[in-house]
Amino acid sequence: MNTLTSVSAVPLCPPFEHESAPLRILLLDDDPAYSHLCQRYLSRDGLRDYDVVAAASAAEGIEACLSQSFDCLLVDYCLPDITGAEILKTLRDKMGSGMPPAIVMSAMGGQAAASEAVRAGAIDFLQKGVVSSECLARSISNAVEKGELKRSIDERTTELLDANIQLQSRNEEIQRFYQSISHEVKTPLAAAREFIAIVLDGITGEVNEEQKEMLVYARESCDQLAEHFNDLVDMTQLEAGKASLNKQWVSLDGLIKRCLASMKAAFEFKEIEFIGAIPDDLPLALVDGNRFVQVISNLVGNAIKYTPRGGEVRLSVELDEASQVATISVADSGCGIKKSDLVRIFDRLYQVKPREESEIEAGLGLGLGLSIAKELVELHHGEIWAESEERQGSTFVVRLPIGAEASAAN
Ligand code: ADP
Repeated sequence: MNTLTSVSAVPLCPPFEHESAPLRILLLDDDPAYSHLCQRYLSRDGLRDYDVVAAASAAEGIEACLSQSFDCLLVDYCLPDITGAEILKTLRDKMGSGMPPAIVMSAMGGQAAASEAVRAGAIDFLQKGVVSSECLARSISNAVEKGELKRSIDERTTELLDANIQLQSRNEEIQRFYQSISHEVKTPLAAAREFIAIVLDGITGEVNEEQKEMLVYARESCDQLAEHFNDLVDMTQLEAGKASLNKQWVSLDGLIKRCLASMKAAFEFKEIEFIGAIPDDLPLALVDGNRFVQVISNLVGNAIKYTPRGGEVRLSVELDEASQVATISVADSGCGIKKSDLVRIFDRLYQVKPREESEIEAGLGLGLGLSIAKELVELHHGEIWAESEERQGSTFVVRLPIGAEASAAN
């Protein structure tokens, strides 16, 4: 039997008006007697109508499947020279996710054949000898349902993938925008800051106290703006996974001194006492020095910002020799952080409402500092967290692998 025949199953029971369209079934079996039996089984189903197309060879079945649309495939496992599983593999290669749900049937059964069929994409495996009208109809109904579910999941997945591609390209656009705006703004900003500094230093003529005060404010505003732009660019690069570390063997002690030196004026201005507990026998650390300074500067800068005049800030470093992990703590005697805020302060753009006028005077940030610090610490395979209670000060802790093995293994 090598011809492809289209047979509409003839109901043996009295005609029954079904609301849904007949299910289109491709029945691929080289045994005409079994093919006929299946059609009889289906014609007895009182719940659905079936439009069965029978094919007696793999070539006919594949051709029919590629040229027509079916709700379900019934494929014999043992066809001459080819298995049902191989047919499904061929169809899957050609049709991808558009392949209809398939049921494989075999005269012998057997776990190995069933597993192979399921691996090739069959939804069910039936043993011919025990197939009944009811069981065949139920298996087809399940397969069709699963096929529909799979189709809707595939469609949703495609939609999500498309949305993701769009988001990525939007994100890249935003990044490019930040990069270019940052470049366009930072160059003239740096020039403005330089001119302010020249006038402030009295190089262009004497400056009175009132003018000095204004110029200092203008210079600080330039610094703040430049910092905001740096934060925006850093955040977009970190988010896009484009930030990389330039790890080198450096002295943590030296880096911390560098960072404290740049904050000397801020400590003095707020009359905040700095207490350092940094061992002087720290070994060299394999970290990105500039990024490390960025993280510690952010923590110390925040400690100064959120501590009232006359308070104190402590910075301590401890080294666990065995694991080669340094723990750096920055503690302050400032306003502290409420529990409900504590869990969110490392979120991007999260800011606690200013608690005191002095916080507003110190200049509100963008709420990016801690999230950038967290990303940078995690890029180093480290951890960062905060401990605090309202009005009890805060402690920010960074645990950083600093040895070659520790930073690679973590
Ligand atoms: P911002 O630019 O607002 O400082 P951050 O990401 O650095 O952004 O900090 C997020 C929030 O965490 C801040 O709005 C601030 O309220 C709170 N915070 C950070 N450090 C401290 C600290 N040492 N004491 C109290 N609150 C802090």
